[in-house]
Amino acid sequence: MKVVVGHLYPDYLNIYADRGNMAVLERRAAWRGIGFDWRAIGIGDSLLVGEHDLLYVGGGQDREQALVAPDLAARGEALREAVEAGTAVLAVCGGYQLLGRFYRDRAGEELPGAGLFPLHTIAGERRMIGDVLLECELEPGERRTVAGFENHAGRTILDAGAEPLGKVVAGFGNDGESGFEGCRLGRALGTYLHGPLLPRNPWLADRLLAQALAHRSGGELPELAPLEDGLEAAAHRVSAGRARARGGRF
Ligand code: GLN
Repeated sequence: MKVVVGHLYPDYLNIYADRGNMAVLERRAAWRGIGFDWRAIGIGDSLLVGEHDLLYVGGGQDREQALVAPDLAARGEALREAVEAGTAVLAVCGGYQLLGRFYRDRAGEELPGAGLFPLHTIAGERRMIGDVLLECELEPGERRTVAGFENHAGRTILDAGAEPLGKVVAGFGNDGESGFEGCRLGRALGTYLHGPLLPRNPWLADRLLAQALAHRSGGELPELAPLEDGLEAAAHRVSAGRARARGGRF
């Protein structure tokens, strides 16, 4: 068993150790005897619909986003088809913004987006920085928390009816006002949470891994063997504690 993972622009969009999310997925796959075929997708590289079981894109400064935005925007159709066909997606911060319709950066420059997520983003004056805690329910009745770190000028506005990743318990989230964070569309997740995100939220890593395996097999979500996550649970507790201590004010 193996999963094929496409990492969009690893050289441009990688801050706050976002690349660490790949390392976590690779390890959690290996500990279960699952192969992890990591493939970088750079500017101008091909992206065939269905080739990847999981697509990942990290965060970045406005400057790096401007360098990749036209290339990513041109992949909008392929990304929509891939997600419709069951490919899982994790997009973090700057990558998350560019999977919406557009990101208007602090200079007022409008960067085109891929239009996968039903949202747009406009940079504000003050950055939203600090630890974040979310409550989410990705499966009916299954309440979970997600802990991470945010640092963004962008205020992301979800379209009416769009699904957020979760409710903000502490922190700013999408715009510091709506009380929501991130966006989800099928197996595609977008979030502002760095950290990296997955080491302190192993259940989310396993969810993405199971979805990637289901895409590869064309079948149901497999049950993954449980792992000893004591360290991950401690990291989650510390991160959640910092977020609660900070609340959500500028
Ligand atoms: N440059 C974007 C912003 O400031 C995204 C930042 C990031 O990826 N951390 O909002």
